[in-house]
Formats: sequence, structure tokens, C-alpha cells
Amino acid sequence: MAQKKEMSGTERRVIEAIVDDNLSEVQALLLEPGLGVDFLDDTGMTPLQHAAFRARREICRFLLASGSDVNSNYHDNGYTALMFAALSGNVEVTRMMLDAGANPDHTNSVGRTAAQMAAFVGQHQCVAAINNFFPSSGLDIYTKPQGLEKEPRLPQHLAPVLVKMINMSNMNPVRIAYFLQDHKEILENSKKVSRVFDTLCEKAMKARDTSDIMALKTHYFATIIRRASKVYEEKQNLDGWIKSLVRGRESDGFPELQDKLIKQSLKEFPYPESELLQQMVHNLANPRLGTHPSAVVLLSQAINGQRYGANEEEDCTTCGQMRAEKKCSACKMVRYCDAYCQKLHWSTHKMFCKDLAVKHQKIQEQKQREHDEEAKHLAEIEAQKRQGEDEELNQKMEDTHIKDKNDAETSTLNGESEAEWNRKVVQDASQLQSLTQATVET
Ligand SMILES: [Zn+2]
Ligand SMILES: [Zn+2]
Repeated sequence: MAQKKEMSGTERRVIEAIVDDNLSEVQALLLEPGLGVDFLDDTGMTPLQHAAFRARREICRFLLASGSDVNSNYHDNGYTALMFAALSGNVEVTRMMLDAGANPDHTNSVGRTAAQMAAFVGQHQCVAAINNFFPSSGLDIYTKPQGLEKEPRLPQHLAPVLVKMINMSNMNPVRIAYFLQDHKEILENSKKVSRVFDTLCEKAMKARDTSDIMALKTHYFATIIRRASKVYEEKQNLDGWIKSLVRGRESDGFPELQDKLIKQSLKEFPYPESELLQQMVHNLANPRLGTHPSAVVLLSQAINGQRYGANEEEDCTTCGQMRAEKKCSACKMVRYCDAYCQKLHWSTHKMFCKDLAVKHQKIQEQKQREHDEEAKHLAEIEAQKRQGEDEELNQKMEDTHIKDKNDAETSTLNGESEAEWNRKVVQDASQLQSLTQATVET
């Protein structure tokens, strides 16, 4: 069993190489005989845990392939590699730990799971990744003939791409359509795939640990795959369908078709008693202001957790991808992943871009006003402070002056009394002397 201890020179260098993200150095150092991949540092952390915490993807991949124990649990506070990955905020590394068999139910020394820890530090994408995780082995039984089956229910080569699809967090139908466009093999096997998804949905609801989330998700994907495959059969591509999903209505640009598609899918969910479904239906029937929350936002929150997608204004307007970097250069009010997403949305956005530009201008002016006011306010405070300091200084100087004067007066007073005393002493002495002399003379 591994022991917590002072690390050897080589061990220390392995950790340093992980910090520097230097994979080849880690590989070279671990060749040292007797070292092993799961040595512990003085807090009980393994190299994999260090690599997970720093989101060193390639090093994590290498350490796991080299047999590192993903559930090593000697850390002082009971943290596992999954917890460190979740704290790092890196979704890919988090999934890698799960795929390597990390136990998501493990708790640290204060009883928190990795998902709870990630939520605590605001890494909501990692929370969603953990809560939604579908293991890469999850489709294995469908890729091999079972019982009397002559052929498997799913062609083997589809499994990895379907696992990737099931692990998606973005529920926007446009994003899912992009995925299907990139993986036409799903559309070409749509009947088999959607049937397997239906089975996964049923299994999730009938399992001992019922998972409404997984059931809802697989059902939703099956709906989209069925719809997309119909289009694909007719047109041999999804371009027109994706355009129609992105298109917004004239009054406010709201994409009605995708909203309808999601609501229809919810209506067809075969488990109407599901609490998660009932909650969503309730929220959809009681829309707050305007079109919010839209069906896609509600679905995404139901599946990924309430805090997921909290910064909606940072998402791609077209496909809902989080933290989109590009903005419309004319109005700076909408974000997109890239030129492709922007181009798709232009026919809708052009109806609002000018107005949004005016709105943006107003917001900027308002911000400028607030900024100026803030600056003015700060300047006033500064001036008051300075005035206060001046006054304080004056007061201090005055106080010092008075004190000096008092000191001087006190010393004068003492001086006088001292002089007086001395005078008296001298007087006394001379009196005494003259007295003595007088006595002698007599
Ligand atoms: Zn996008
Ligand atoms: Zn614009």
C-alpha cells in the first residue's frame, strides 16, 4: 500500500513536470524502476490527482493508461481525482475520470461528493458532466447480439459517437442538429439508434435508482433523431431544417419552431408521472415575463441543474453553446460561436440589429453616465478626505502649538520655581554662613 511520505528527488520532479504540463518529462521520469504511478506526496495526493487538479489533460490520459488508480483515496481530506478534476472546472478531464471508473458517490472528509464540491465553487458545467455521465461501456450490450438475436441492435462503430451524444450538456436542438450533421452515420441508422435510445429511457425509469434526467434526455434525443432523419431522407442534408429551427418570429425573434419541437417531445414522454416532467410542464404553463423561460432553457435546467446556463447572455444566440466569444460587430448585443452560427441567424437578427445597436448605444451612454457619476462621487470623497486631512493637519498643528506653548509655560514655571528655590538656598547658605561667622566672632 502506498504511504504518505517525504517525496524522493525523482518523485518531486514528476510533480514539477505535471505542474509544467510536460508530458514527455513525466513519461521519462516514471521509467525509473520501482517508482510506480501512484506514489503519494506528503498530503496523500497521487500524480493523477495533481494532474487532474491542474487539468493536465494529456498527462491524465497517460497516467490512466499507465494504470493509475482513479479512486485512490489517501488524501488528507479524502479528495479523489474526480473531485480534483471537478474543482479544476475542466469538463473533459472530469469526464475522463468518470470514464476511467471514478466513483461519483464517493464523499470527502466533510461528506461532500465531487458534484457538490464543484457546485460549491461554481463549476456548474462539471456538476452537469458528473450528474449526466453516461459511461463509454454503457452501450456495450447493444453492440453484441444478446440471447437469440442474430445481429446486434446497434452497429459497433456507432457506440463511441452515441456515447458522446448522450454526454452532451447543450440541449439546444440546433446544436444537436449540428452534431447529427457531423455524424450522418446516426441518421443513416436512425431507426436502430432511436429504438436503443427508447430502451435506455425505459431502463432509466425502471432502474432501482430511477433517473428521470437520463430518461428525459434519451427520449428527447430520440425525438430529434427521428425528426432529423425524416428530413435527411428527403433532402439528404439538414441545412434547411436547421435554418428553420434558428428562424425567429417577426415580433421578437423568438425561435418558435424549436420551442414547439421541445414541447412536443415533452408531451410524448412516456412517463407522465415523472416529477421532473411535471415540474417542467408546470413552469412552461406559467411563463414569467415574455418568452422566458423558453422550453430550451427549462429543459436544459431540468437536465443540467438550475444553475446551468445562468449567464444566458454569454451563450451563442444560434446554438446555445456556452461562453460564445464573437459578437455581432454592428450591435454588439448578441453572441455567436463563429461566423457559421452568425450567418445562420442573420435572417432573423437583421430585423433587430439596428434597434439593438440603438439599445447598445443607450446602454453604453448610461454606463458612461454612471461611470462619470461614480468618478465625480469618488472625486468628491477624495476632496472631502483631503479637506478632512488638511483640517486634521491644521488641528494637529494647532494642538502641537498649544502643547509647545504649554510645555514652555510649564518649563518657565518650573524654571522660575527652581530659580527661586536656588535663590532661597543661596540666601539660606549665606545667612547660615553669616550666622556661623557671627557665632565664631562672639
Ligand atoms: Zn453557436
Ligand atoms: Zn447585430
